[in-house]
Amino acid sequence: MSKNVLDQKMATIVSLCRRRAFIFQSSEIYGGLNGCWDYGPLGVELKRNIKALWWKDMVMNRTDVEGVDCSILMNPRVWEASGHVQSFTDPMVDCMQCRGRFRADHIQNKQCPTCGTKDKFTEVRHFNLMFKTFVGAMEDSTSQVFLRPETCQGIFANFDNIVNTCRVKVPFGIAQIGKAFRNEINPRNFTFRSREFEQMEMEFFCKPDPAEADKWFQYWKQERYGWYIKYGIKKERLHLREHEKNELAHYAAGCADIEYDFPFGCAELEGIANRTDYDLKRHSEFSKKDLSYFDQAANQRYFPYVIEPSAGADRATLAFIVDAYEEEKLEEETRTVMRFHPAVAPVKAAIFPLVNKDGMPEIAVKIQQELKKHWNVFLDDKGAVGRRYRRQDEIGTPFCITVDGETVQAQTVTVRDRDSMKQDRVAIDQLQTYLSKKLNT
Ligand code: ATP
Repeated sequence: MSKNVLDQKMATIVSLCRRRAFIFQSSEIYGGLNGCWDYGPLGVELKRNIKALWWKDMVMNRTDVEGVDCSILMNPRVWEASGHVQSFTDPMVDCMQCRGRFRADHIQNKQCPTCGTKDKFTEVRHFNLMFKTFVGAMEDSTSQVFLRPETCQGIFANFDNIVNTCRVKVPFGIAQIGKAFRNEINPRNFTFRSREFEQMEMEFFCKPDPAEADKWFQYWKQERYGWYIKYGIKKERLHLREHEKNELAHYAAGCADIEYDFPFGCAELEGIANRTDYDLKRHSEFSKKDLSYFDQAANQRYFPYVIEPSAGADRATLAFIVDAYEEEKLEEETRTVMRFHPAVAPVKAAIFPLVNKDGMPEIAVKIQQELKKHWNVFLDDKGAVGRRYRRQDEIGTPFCITVDGETVQAQTVTVRDRDSMKQDRVAIDQLQTYLSKKLNT
């Protein structure tokens, strides 16, 4: 596809997200705030489903991973130990013509991306991406703290607490979902590069043996790649890219990115890294607390190696939206359909009374109340049924239930499948079982 067509596709998706209450610009009535986004009623359901599926597969369904929820503000020494104070920087240049500020490594052909002027940039400067704020009443350097730029440091800082309270044994993991903040120089590509976003991270601690660590590194790469496919992301658009040796952080023994083909290019959804024993050793050094682990079975004390799958909830949400979006040519029209996997779809079923009389609205409300106990469902009684189907297709609702003339006599409804558009006739008292099977929940 040409760049124009891809740009158009992205613009259409962004506009659908706004129109159908998935994602709005933050503080839009005041002109917005660059790099910040709000999720509307459908977007919040979608993102919550994605986070819940991650939590289910990474924590609940496993016996070797514990969850935590750490504070966003931490003792600033954490960020000295992690290396962020010193080196969490991006190279930055300003265009002297239009005063635009850009990441030096994003400039192509020495040309300003905004005004097009060639070769009129300031020297490269290094810009720390951490947001600063102050705790307490004094605004001086002793009270300065940072909004965390990643969630994993809360996990490392709690390593000892978990080991001492949860009877975990290496190999085991600690997982967290939470907000992170980065003062990105150029937030762009919708929610892909935001200044405030959510991460889903897990630190998996294993024996400090390179072969053992590599075994878990390979394992987590496959697990995480498979996770996106399991929930419907198209395999041909998802890539596992191994980092070259010169791309690796100095402490890392291996790193791979899971990348997705967005309309704006192939870009990272998640990174999986073998971080060796770097983090626990650094935090031991800076906190003066010994964070080594005593392995009873081996009668040995050591600093475990860490394998880290680190994903972005907003980037995953965007990938699920882009991947689901389809314009399908039918005989007489084109329908826009979001082919969300049922587990991901924000609304699981819609209920339509065919007409607003003859007892149909009452039955529809009853069905809604019953199904609402189990899933997010929606009742739509406005407009022609064909239009109601299209509205649900556009937000990816897997099933539409119509209450019609037959319902009143036979206590049955039609259930229309979003993808095949085929209809089944189902008894009202069988609806929940029918949907459970189809939705696999
Ligand atoms: P990039 O190179 O795209 O800036 P990164 O390699 O710095 O990303 P990590 O530090 O590995 O990203 O963060 C882990 C994950 O957190 C990323 O894979 C991504 O999903 C998410 N993430 C990082 N920065 C942002 C951001 N600015 N907006 C949204 N999500 C982000």
